[in-house]
Amino acid sequence: MTAILFVLFVAGLLFVWVLFWRQWQHDDEDESAIVEHDERVSPLLRGINYLLADEPDLALQEMVQVAKLRSEAADVYMALGEMFRSHGEIGRAVRIHQNILARPDVSSELYLQAHFALAKDFQTGGLLDRALYHYQKVLDVRSDHLDALMASLRIREQSSEWLKAEELLSRIERLQGDEDGLHRAYLWGALAQDAMQNNDYQVAQEYINNALSLTKKCGHAYILLVNLALKNNDTEQLQHTLAAMQAETPDYLHLLIPLLLQNNACSDELMRYWKEQHDHELALSWMEGLAKKDVSAATSLREKMSFAPTGLRESLRLAAMGMNSDDFFVSQAKKWRMSMKHYGCTQCGVQTVDMRWQCPQCHQWGSMSAITEDDK
Ligand SMILES: [Zn+2]
Repeated sequence: MTAILFVLFVAGLLFVWVLFWRQWQHDDEDESAIVEHDERVSPLLRGINYLLADEPDLALQEMVQVAKLRSEAADVYMALGEMFRSHGEIGRAVRIHQNILARPDVSSELYLQAHFALAKDFQTGGLLDRALYHYQKVLDVRSDHLDALMASLRIREQSSEWLKAEELLSRIERLQGDEDGLHRAYLWGALAQDAMQNNDYQVAQEYINNALSLTKKCGHAYILLVNLALKNNDTEQLQHTLAAMQAETPDYLHLLIPLLLQNNACSDELMRYWKEQHDHELALSWMEGLAKKDVSAATSLREKMSFAPTGLRESLRLAAMGMNSDDFFVSQAKKWRMSMKHYGCTQCGVQTVDMRWQCPQCHQWGSMSAITEDDK
């Protein structure tokens, strides 16, 4: 609160200084101009006094009295709103921005700024529908407002409204003059997943095709394609997809393990791939998958692969499978494995326990990959 008050105080002083400087510049003008300035200054000063006395609501009431919303006052208002929002005081930020919009003399630029700020207030407060409404108000006036488009896209993705997200992405791409095939492919992947969940396999296949026609690097599309091939008992499709993944997105192969084990499929192909590439993430996921049901199956797979851990992280994962004995170390390793940060974002570095196709922090698609011993 002290920081807010201090910044408000400085903002207030600046505002007053601007008004007095203007008054000094127009010293020769008639008395009425000075009176007008005084009327504008006093509610603001009273407001600042209330703020210093830690009475922000009374302060706000006073500031609303500022008779004419000239650009200086508007800047103070907008700065206040930003400050309240950044300190999590969303209600106050909303009231300030709504007050600006309620004024009859609001300029078109300020109208745009206030709607955008209000949208950000609601987005920060988690009221996504209202945020979208105000972003739309901005876009109604300026259809090429990139920040409003980007923010709306984020909300649509957050709400799993993939078709609407895809439409917004198209608009952004047209404005920026380049295409983000990977992003769009992942949106089609998310649509395909929804179709799969609704048992609409034909539509899912179409969406997967859309994704893979944009880029061969959409890991999600391959995983869904394997799922589809297993459901259709289509061995040829399964082999073809595995080969494509090995070539295009080998980092995601280990994600297939639960699916393949469940269907008792492709162990020969996986073993061949292990012998070629020595993919440790794949081997560990495979052993972990087996160990959930049968530790001895995991042990014999380890022997068959001649798997040797490359460092502490891999050793702990092996220990957590309980291959050796059920001693204190194993139980501690199991606990560690439960909360192990398995994936990291290559863009922003955030780490997660589960795999995400979109980074929860920087919102990049396809940027998460398994953390290996070398990453640390
Ligand atoms: Zn990220």
